[in-house]
Amino acid sequence: MTARSEYHHLYNKSAWRRQLRPQHLAREPLCRACLRRGIINDGSLTAAGEDQANARRRFLVVDHVIPHRGDLGLFLDPANLQTLCPDDHDQNKQRLEARGYSQERGADGWPIDPQHPANR
Ligand SMILES: [Zn+2]
Repeated sequence: MTARSEYHHLYNKSAWRRQLRPQHLAREPLCRACLRRGIINDGSLTAAGEDQANARRRFLVVDHVIPHRGDLGLFLDPANLQTLCPDDHDQNKQRLEARGYSQERGADGWPIDPQHPANR
């Protein structure tokens, strides 16, 4: 069972669909990873900044920075959300699954994922 199907019921919660997700997208309407590379991507581009030819991949993902692993606190924390394009979301997810933790760092430069080796 993948994490997505295991936790699918969380994404059906109205708190997620009606509040958290749209509110986050209103605050952060561009892919955060593309922006770091200097690409303004509202979901219509690939991670390389080219026109997204696949219409089914023209959207933005609201992703959890620290994997919530079913933890409602992390799942519903607005500060734990980031906007990603599908390309960056896939890459992020693959790296996460390979390592088991996020390498995202907070404002102080310290890794924020409790599963990161620096925090264990
Ligand atoms: Zn991106």
